[in-house]
Amino acid sequence: MTGALTVVGLGPGRAELMTPASAEAIATATDLIGYGPYLDRIAARPAGQRRHPTDNRVELERARHALELAVAGKRVAVVSGGDPGVFAMAAAIFEAIDHGPVEWRQLDIRIEPGITAMLAAAAEVGAPLGGDFCAISLSDNLKAWSTIERRLQAAAAGDFVIALYNPLSKARPHQLGEAFDILRRTKSPSTVVVMVRAAGSGEVRRVTTTLRDVDPDQADMRTLVLIGSSTTRLIARGAEAPWVYTPRRDVEVPS
Ligand code: SAH
Repeated sequence: MTGALTVVGLGPGRAELMTPASAEAIATATDLIGYGPYLDRIAARPAGQRRHPTDNRVELERARHALELAVAGKRVAVVSGGDPGVFAMAAAIFEAIDHGPVEWRQLDIRIEPGITAMLAAAAEVGAPLGGDFCAISLSDNLKAWSTIERRLQAAAAGDFVIALYNPLSKARPHQLGEAFDILRRTKSPSTVVVMVRAAGSGEVRRVTTTLRDVDPDQADMRTLVLIGSSTTRLIARGAEAPWVYTPRRDVEVPS
């Protein structure tokens, strides 16, 4: 088998935030597979390269299609936003391999990491991930809402900085508000909350607030929500948005 499959992450937005290794995998691929808007972010179109834009929901089908093309001898790049292993296509590829024909296990498969939204959002606002943190996707397309509730409670009890991916969508408008309600049961009302939209893209927008005052309607599907630990702090800068950071020294502040 001469085909190959690379799963690449485009980073959060700006071209400079994609790694040279991902750019190389895209430039040398015979076939690109990914959600249409992600493929649209790739400007260069080498002669003869085929693009297979797909819907965002059909991850496993897309994964199988990519593996079949690789078996047929193509050099396939499967494209994700951010990092391909974070709530994205790399896991779908391995799930397809796990349950697919044994020949797929012989393929040349590589994963090229990318800058995930959590890191891009953190860099926009300061250093909120200076202490222990966790990431939770609020999407219940692929898991039960009760699982998400349990993890939010555990993250609050553990006093982690919490990064929320997929905060809400048109089909799930209330989940972010419910998540804040769950966190309020354990965490102080003065806990720092930052919502960063389109981090690392040149169109970034940020809201810095508290768990008491946060308005979930200010988030959308391009927003990453960061909820501080008890030690996360603000540095005021007059008219500029404050810096947000979590000190390296982690001595819990009682609420
Ligand atoms: N693989 C992607 C995440 C896919 S889940 C990554 O590593 O970043 C999609 C969610 O990621 C979105 O709903 C949003 O919460 C977040 N996201 C993706 N890009 C973002 C950006 N530029 N700014 C803020 N959040 C972003």
